[in-house]
Amino acid sequence: METKKYIVTVASRDPVKEAQVSVEPKFWKKKKLEEMNSTEWELLCDGCGKCCLNKLEIHGKIYYTNVRCRFLDSQSCLCRIYPHRFEKVPDCRNIDLKAIRERPRWLPKTCAYWLLDNGYDLPSWHPLISGDKESVHKALQSVRGRLIISESEVEHYEDYIVDWKDI
Ligand code: SF4
Ligand code: SF4
Repeated sequence: METKKYIVTVASRDPVKEAQVSVEPKFWKKKKLEEMNSTEWELLCDGCGKCCLNKLEIHGKIYYTNVRCRFLDSQSCLCRIYPHRFEKVPDCRNIDLKAIRERPRWLPKTCAYWLLDNGYDLPSWHPLISGDKESVHKALQSVRGRLIISESEVEHYEDYIVDWKDI
């Protein structure tokens, strides 16, 4: 089988543990999400960090806030406790098929999992397309450089609702 090297970075969400893996080229065009192995699944994450912003559900609609989980590193856009996230943050959500298909949608509309599951292709700035793990940030599609605040400093989340075009 033909394979292509990709750098796993955003997937592990731990830049220290960067590793090279072999996967089938453009595997995301050949497999459904439910057919992907764990490496392919992790590679799909673009590392935007938007799913780690707090959201409110009001009358059946999801509103994003610019309040981040206290464990989201706003520069790298990576989780600082990824291997232990579910122990430390009980409401941290696993990105699985159920989460991707949940209504109302709470993942950002740029999320690679949501895009593929809804028949869209990956955007040009996705690291799997660009070959550059920084491209998501350069394209201003991540939380890096945005005015975001830690949840530890916030009392009323309603005061921090944002209406960004990419959520
Ligand atoms: S929104 Fe999707 S692509 Fe972005 S960090 Fe979360 S899981 Fe990854
Ligand atoms: S604990 Fe969960 S919500 Fe918080 S930064 Fe890590 S992955 Fe995101």
